[in-house]
Amino acid sequence: MIDVHCHLEQEDYEKDRDEVIERCKKELKAIITSCAHPKDLEKTIEMVKKHEKFVFASVGIHPEYIGEFSEKDVESFIEKIRRNKEFFVAIGEVGLDFNWVKDKELQERQKNMFKTFIDLSKELDLPLVVHSRDAMEETIRILEEKRASKVHLHLFGEHSFLKNVIKNGWFISIGPIVLRSKKHKKIARDMLLERIMLETDSPWFGFGKRNDPTSIKDVANKIAEIKKISFDEVWKVCGENAIRFFNLDI
Ligand SMILES: [Zn+2]
Repeated sequence: MIDVHCHLEQEDYEKDRDEVIERCKKELKAIITSCAHPKDLEKTIEMVKKHEKFVFASVGIHPEYIGEFSEKDVESFIEKIRRNKEFFVAIGEVGLDFNWVKDKELQERQKNMFKTFIDLSKELDLPLVVHSRDAMEETIRILEEKRASKVHLHLFGEHSFLKNVIKNGWFISIGPIVLRSKKHKKIARDMLLERIMLETDSPWFGFGKRNDPTSIKDVANKIAEIKKISFDEVWKVCGENAIRFFNLDI
């Protein structure tokens, strides 16, 4: 089983990062950590090197940070990604976040940066990990307009757009929020198992405590219950989906 989306670079793991990863090795097959800010690039590459064939990484700029970077900064970060591309299995998370960013001009800049990263994912032939909050219609419009095909919508939460996701052959990942949210339960019920991957978005979604990737077991359990299938089937199929989608060398 594979946690396809978490943030091991976060401060929360500063004291015991390696111990956490070693514990995960006992239960999981791999982890994909999401480097979402340029300042975390080196730390992420270090983890990938140190835990070869277990910690994999995606790289991008989270839309929430749009105000921190000029177009030139984004270009020079992209140049760094090109130079280090062997350490990454995907581009992301990138996308739109109109919940954190309400300013119209910044939202326009988010759209431009998103398009730039979609182009990069095509150039490097890597899948795209998408973050979208309060902006799903626009996100889908851009992805379709750009004809992005290898798309992973992380923490996908809008049932009304599920038909677009299915039609376009995209993947979603389901996280611990499915334990609590009705809306996410419905998505788990109606999405094809062959297009679902599991994530924790750790260190977040620990509901009061620090989360870690081993909690994808709870997510798998919940999906099994919702879909009325066995835990083993969820565990196996979602894991295989991740290996294929991210072309993981494990
Ligand atoms: Zn994330």
